[in-house]
Amino acid sequence: MNEKDFPCLNDELVYLDSACMSFRPQRVIEKVQDYYTDYSGCSGRSGHSISRRAEQELENARAKIASFIGASKSELMFTSGTTEAINTVAQGLDFERVFLTEKEHNSNRAVWQELGVETVNMADLDLEFLEKTLGEKDLVSVLHVSNLDGEILDVETLCKISREKQAYTLIDAAQSISHGPFSVREIDADFVAFSGHKMLGPTGTGGLYVAERVQEELEPLKYGGGAVIDSSLSTNSREDFPHGFEPGLKNIAGFTGLGAAVDYLESIGMRKVLEHEEELTVHLVSELESMNVKIFNKGPGIVSVVPESMSSNEAAEIMDLKGIKVRSGQHCVHPWFKNKDFDSTLRVSLHLYNSKRDVEAFLKVMRSISAL
Ligand code: PMP
Repeated sequence: MNEKDFPCLNDELVYLDSACMSFRPQRVIEKVQDYYTDYSGCSGRSGHSISRRAEQELENARAKIASFIGASKSELMFTSGTTEAINTVAQGLDFERVFLTEKEHNSNRAVWQELGVETVNMADLDLEFLEKTLGEKDLVSVLHVSNLDGEILDVETLCKISREKQAYTLIDAAQSISHGPFSVREIDADFVAFSGHKMLGPTGTGGLYVAERVQEELEPLKYGGGAVIDSSLSTNSREDFPHGFEPGLKNIAGFTGLGAAVDYLESIGMRKVLEHEEELTVHLVSELESMNVKIFNKGPGIVSVVPESMSSNEAAEIMDLKGIKVRSGQHCVHPWFKNKDFDSTLRVSLHLYNSKRDVEAFLKVMRSISAL
């Protein structure tokens, strides 16, 4: 689907690592370039027309990205990615306990451990257990879609239960937001974190949705210029969310580029993107089933494979030599591997620009690896 829009793609390359990093369409690259060539000023500072244009473009991008996830502009802050978004929540509010699943990304585990917050580890999202156990001031912080096997968690029911118990919810949407229809209104979480570079946007971009009802409770991760209304030698007053949470000069080129990525995704249609990935995944998994490999797949777009004949790392190296880019390793989900009889997987991850040709190229090499 639309490979020609992506300058990084070519006939020799089979790119199957979009869970790590998606490629960008030409219009995103041009939007980033527009900032540096046409209006390269400080947003929100100087009063001249270049600066005003930069501010306008940045806020247009915020409105577009917010609308893409069903939020309003005043509920979305810019971050450098999912990690910074999760850190903002972790360091901005006191939680009694944090409930995690075994498949959380290290970006949703290390911060709680480092801060010494009590964590409750569930093997999977256990709604019954949560209903019995959750209390006021607890947080459930979980993936929407697993970066290991594509599993989709029932975050809508989770958020409903958590609200009834007056617990908070943080959804890591890094792997879901650009792969199908997504609405913060339907999910109704308190916080949603995501990364721009996984949704056809520039590196160093992302966002944190904060529901209006909890904005007052959250403290910023950083303080400084641009977020201050007034200051004296001893105090300062701060802007409300989101501007009060975004001190320092913003990544204007990056976020305007992310706005263009959202335009691009919307021009394709998110249902179409989902159907496309579903179709490719069904084909991929059905072919893998006849091979000598373990398969981990619970949803569209992401399939982890463990070959019997060699390590996943060796298989990834062979793939690389044949022009097929897949990732091997533990995918920042180390705890999941602790009780397994293998220490890494070979992960295929798709995006809208992948084609059946890409899947066939991977399967061809996988067939020869599994026959060894
Ligand atoms: N959560 C998940 C599910 C991820 O896949 C990733 C990136 N692989 C992250 C969090 C971290 O995202 P970022 O690097 O943009 O902070």
